[in-house]
Amino acid sequence: MVPGIQFMHTKAVNMQKPASFIYLDNASTTKTDPLVAETMIPYLTEVYGNASSIHQPGRVAQVAVEESREKIARVLQCEVSEIIFTSGATESNNAAIAGLAEKAGPGHIITSLAEHHAVLHPLHELEKKGYSCTYLKPGPGGVISASQVEEALQPDTIFVSLMLVNNETGGITPVHEIASLCQSKNIPLHSDTVQAAGKIRWDVQQLGVDLLSLSSHKFHGPKGCGILYVKAGSPWSPFLQGGSQERNRRGGTLNVAGIAGTGKAMEILQENFDKNLKHVAQLSQKLISGLQEALPGIVHLNRHPDPALSVPHIVNCSFPLPDGKAIDGEMLLLNLDIEGICVSNGSACTSGAIEPSHVLQSLGLDSKTAKSSIRFSLSKFTTTEEIDYVLAALPPIIRRMAANA
Ligand code: PLP
Repeated sequence: MVPGIQFMHTKAVNMQKPASFIYLDNASTTKTDPLVAETMIPYLTEVYGNASSIHQPGRVAQVAVEESREKIARVLQCEVSEIIFTSGATESNNAAIAGLAEKAGPGHIITSLAEHHAVLHPLHELEKKGYSCTYLKPGPGGVISASQVEEALQPDTIFVSLMLVNNETGGITPVHEIASLCQSKNIPLHSDTVQAAGKIRWDVQQLGVDLLSLSSHKFHGPKGCGILYVKAGSPWSPFLQGGSQERNRRGGTLNVAGIAGTGKAMEILQENFDKNLKHVAQLSQKLISGLQEALPGIVHLNRHPDPALSVPHIVNCSFPLPDGKAIDGEMLLLNLDIEGICVSNGSACTSGAIEPSHVLQSLGLDSKTAKSSIRFSLSKFTTTEEIDYVLAALPPIIRRMAANA
């Protein structure tokens, strides 16, 4: 069990230092809701039947799968037959893209430079096979407009893939407007909605997409379980070939415990939705104003200026310094870790070198400023005391690093 946070005194920031950690990396993964874990346990212990088996334990497992599918379909406002369980959003995105491309054959695809690698990398593979892609340059916060998509359309555009909420900046793309445009041109639209679950209110009817991807662990569900929604009649062919599971649309033995946990997590998401959102918005605002007050002119927010176009859960900031210098984000992350604060940055380690975030670079940040960025991501479990602690711990670290830069 993850230890509860207890507090002890520390001189460094003259605050109560957490004995375990302050978790502000919820865009990477979230704490499994205890009620979700409780729901899963029987399927990891007594009910271990294969959901495809016709004997009793298999049938009990299958009931759990179908009950979860119903819960999810109710929240997403779709048919149960339109839900396919996967191993996570990486698989859902790969399956969505490969399946749309396979069905249409080589043609033109529209996406954005700010998509997750689980969208960008499969598209790069398609380019090697003769498909062409337009990578739209996002506006502030990683947001793409319907007019950008309209301008990029070509006679042979076969589909569009755009995320609803950006995982690094929290920017909200008006996917419903893009969906109306795509519908009018009869072009399928896939959306990576991973970071939107529980952050803004939406369902597939309101969004109007043909396919979408979700990952359970991003909304307090288990890791290794995802959802691919495929609207009935969409021009899509299955990706993972194997057994006849999921109506022949995704081979592989079903992760019954994960699926049961996903349904529960989705159900819990709807409870206290507004209360949780308000809680996160208040803490996020406290964090932003606290940082701006403590570090005037040093902290730069990487988000859309219109709060209506950002989820409050994600606060991404860079720390550029005069003379073209910048705080080293990797060092900052480690310093925060020493203080018990868990955050992340968008940098990826490629061949031993730290690469700045492709999302922040697509927003026009130079590589130094992009490398100086860190992302705080909050959840319903984040507390005021934790934000107070961060506001006490972070500014002295930044000042010390700035003095030595
Ligand atoms: N899409 C987005 C926007 C994400 O943030 C992530 C995870 O970080 C993924 C896809 C991939 O999800 P998973 O790692 O659960 O497969």
